[in-house]
Amino acid sequence: MITVEEATEQVLSRIEPLPAERVDLVDALGRVLAEPVVSDIDVAPFDNSAMDGYAVRAADVAGAGDDTPVTLEVLEHIPAGAWPGRTVGPGQASRIMTGAPMPPGADAVVMVERIRPGEAAGGPGGTVLICAPAAARENVRARAEEVREGETVLLSGETVGAAAIGLAASVGHAELVVRRRPRVAIVSTGDELVDVTEKPGPGKIRNSNSYTLAALVRLAGGEPHILGVARDTMDDTRALLSRASEFDLMVTTGGVSMGDFDVVKVVLEEIGELDFWKVAMRPGAPQTFGTIDGTPFFGLPGNPTSTMVGFEMFVRPVIRKMAGFTSLVRPRVLATLSHDVKKKPDRRYFLRSRITRRPEGGYSVAIAGNQSSALLTAMHRGNCLMSLPEGESFFAAGTEVMCIRLDMEEGTA
Ligand code: AMP
Ligand code: MG
Repeated sequence: MITVEEATEQVLSRIEPLPAERVDLVDALGRVLAEPVVSDIDVAPFDNSAMDGYAVRAADVAGAGDDTPVTLEVLEHIPAGAWPGRTVGPGQASRIMTGAPMPPGADAVVMVERIRPGEAAGGPGGTVLICAPAAARENVRARAEEVREGETVLLSGETVGAAAIGLAASVGHAELVVRRRPRVAIVSTGDELVDVTEKPGPGKIRNSNSYTLAALVRLAGGEPHILGVARDTMDDTRALLSRASEFDLMVTTGGVSMGDFDVVKVVLEEIGELDFWKVAMRPGAPQTFGTIDGTPFFGLPGNPTSTMVGFEMFVRPVIRKMAGFTSLVRPRVLATLSHDVKKKPDRRYFLRSRITRRPEGGYSVAIAGNQSSALLTAMHRGNCLMSLPEGESFFAAGTEVMCIRLDMEEGTA
């Protein structure tokens, strides 16, 4: 048996990030930039007002206060989107709205809450009473405050979030060059499987793994393709597995244990190259990794929770690496066990658990229900995998244990 870390390392060493593609701005969300984003303009493109108010000369209003208002002549009204036509001289001001360009001559803005309208209601041709001083540049947003023309705004390798999309838009990029999303083929195997729309007859169960996997693939940043169910025959399994080269990655469930009809391994040996591992973990000890016509292949065990845990530990990091991410694994957090746990010492256990923040600080963790690998409810109720190392068999309440946060995106290895 090999350890989880050894298996992960072996797999990742054979995976390279996929090529890049150019996509519409919003379609880049959640993906990894493969080219930097450079600005074609200054942002902001001009000095502008941060407030609705009056553009003034700071020197004119230095002594202004509620009891000592300074009266200024109002030249014009500058709304956002307009361009000022008048230069503000001593004793003058222009009414200005948020985002509107600063008029020449003015160097500060007094917000509308700090003025009293004078003649003509403080409009053009009238007057305004300034009731507070303003320092030079106060309430003025400087040209190029955020970005200078020609400057790199987003770096290659960065993940595109909502703010990145906004930044890219503001600097003129309607498309972004990002890593391709891995196209992942999903194959379930088993004579017992019927589709979700069917009521299972005698001896049958519904296929759930294909759907769980499709969801996991999507969450990991891949593009799931459900190819269907292979019956437990060489021909049927070969027919689906031989489609691997149409995809960046193929994942199957079931058929990799020691059962009489576990044909996935046999087919892989015939049409691909195979590493069969017993990984020292529970659930999900039998794991198969290989290639078919150059496409990486994972054969996950069939029990629904084994499938999910195997995906978390091995497939998700591969999808993330292909998609260009450098942070490949979930965050790990130490938490205090709320109850005793016994296990066999032979392997690492991943218990489906719920971690909560304690009011006094730190975290506590408890298992999230029945731990049978055939059941999914504990996975659903839980938010982490409690990782209990091989070599130990008893963990008393109060012990600190490592938890893998399944409810968080990325962490450090
Ligand atoms: P196997 O690894 O093929 O021996 O399957 C182990 C267990 O997982 C068996 O009880 C199967 O019925 C079950 N199983 C296999 N594939 C699926 C699937 N796609 N959806 C739900 N359960 C499955
Ligand atoms: Mg089977």
